[in-house]
Amino acid sequence: MGPPVDPVPAGDSQPKSADVVIVGGGIIGVSAALFLARKGISVVVCEKGHVAGEQSSRNWGWCRRMGRDPRELPLIVEALKMWGGIEELVGEDVGFRRTGILYLCQDESDVEHHAEWVRRAGDYALDSKMIEGRALADLMPGAQKTFRAALHTPSDGRAEPQKAAPAIARAAQRAGARILLRCAVREIETEAGRVSGVVTENGPIRASTVVVAGGAWSSHLCRSVGIRLPQLAVRSSVMRTGPVEGGPDGAAWTEGFAYRKRLDGGYTIADGTISYHHVNPDSFRYFTDFLPILSREWRSIGLRFGDFLGGPFGLSPRLEGEGSVYERHRTLDPEPAVAPLEAARANMEKVFPVLKGVPTLQRWAGFIDATPDAVPVISPVKSLPGLVIATGFSGHGFGIGPAAGRLTADIVTGDTPLVAPTAFRYERFIDGTRHRPTTGV
Ligand SMILES: Cc1cc2nc3c(=O)[nH]c(=O)nc-3n(C[C@H](O)[C@H](O)[C@H](O)COP(=O)(O)OP(=O)(O)OC[C@H]3O[C@@H](n4cnc5c(N)ncnc54)[C@H](O)[C@@H]3O)c2cc1C
Repeated sequence: MGPPVDPVPAGDSQPKSADVVIVGGGIIGVSAALFLARKGISVVVCEKGHVAGEQSSRNWGWCRRMGRDPRELPLIVEALKMWGGIEELVGEDVGFRRTGILYLCQDESDVEHHAEWVRRAGDYALDSKMIEGRALADLMPGAQKTFRAALHTPSDGRAEPQKAAPAIARAAQRAGARILLRCAVREIETEAGRVSGVVTENGPIRASTVVVAGGAWSSHLCRSVGIRLPQLAVRSSVMRTGPVEGGPDGAAWTEGFAYRKRLDGGYTIADGTISYHHVNPDSFRYFTDFLPILSREWRSIGLRFGDFLGGPFGLSPRLEGEGSVYERHRTLDPEPAVAPLEAARANMEKVFPVLKGVPTLQRWAGFIDATPDAVPVISPVKSLPGLVIATGFSGHGFGIGPAAGRLTADIVTGDTPLVAPTAFRYERFIDGTRHRPTTGV
């Protein structure tokens, strides 16, 4: 089971038509809905389960500029400004705190790797810098191990994933958006070569624009209208502890463990290095697209076999007599990888003995929606007018989420975009562009 998520009022009824239908009530879908509704657009979000039931409540909660692919830097800078004013935007505290984030270096090659990011980020590096000695020790109260150095960004922070997307969704509702829960979109409809609406499990909704913000499901949905979107699902696991007295207040990653302090006083802990891909038909369909990233990242991806056709992404989206695969899997809830989580906790305990005896309250996992270059698609689709894709956030869409939603809304309405959207264009995956992932963690 995933962590308990703040509720969003159900009860919005399904309209016959809207200007825009958004498929997916994760942080991207509900943020796009908020900004569209604030522009006076009639917008409906269809969520097959509950808001933030999948990745958007299961993530670490890091809101970071540090370590980002240069293509994402302008958008994450805007996102962090938005997080700074999130309470005003949504009318409640969702736990955003600028507690800083550390990438801890164990040796010289780590130092060189992170220092290289600072050089590459140029002006976008802002307050990110390499620190060591006393400056680093002060940020790790109670640490029993000295790290060689760290990349530190004091202005990065964290928010509570179980609160943020639901609060944005409620704000979107207040602004006029309709959010339909337990409402799977079975198909996107087209007419005369353009999008004309969707068919949900409760019937059709006509709309001239459909935004696909379906997380790990987006590729399946796009395929049903002949759009090839290379995307693979990667399972990543997390645990949370009970409250801890003392210990560091911020977040950190190093080989062997990653942590961040939660608003409830506990820690969210993860291994942060290893994730798993469950081999399914998409693995072969998109093999060549992912070859460059796989050849670089193969040590951090474990392959799992079995259930080739029976897993969530193995089936054809339509199920005879049972509606669709989206109803069968209302909320993706993969098994967490317990051994790597326990090892991560043990590694963290060695550094912070204050964790000893603190109970582990829960473990869970989520499926990340990875693209071949680890950069999202936030883009119209030239070959199918009316279709807009906002997906493929590749394990770092929570922090960038509010700004990605705003950019999606700008693209839908044709307003001046929050940032230049060129780097996120869909066509890079079909026009022969070579994919060069450049992100670190
Ligand atoms: C373990 C883990 C740790 C992470 N840590 C971080 C982090 O620290 N910082 C960070 O920035 N990011 C992190 N991420 C990534 C981040 O969580 C995601 O990038 C982000 O939540 C993606 O949001 P989304 O709205 O695109 O997708 P999702 O949250 O997955 O939402 C998609 C929604 O679409 C719905 N849907 C799909 N198909 C249909 C359909 N046909 N009809 C109706 N509804 C449909 C699904 O039910 C789902 O609710 C992490 C992810 C995981 C799994």
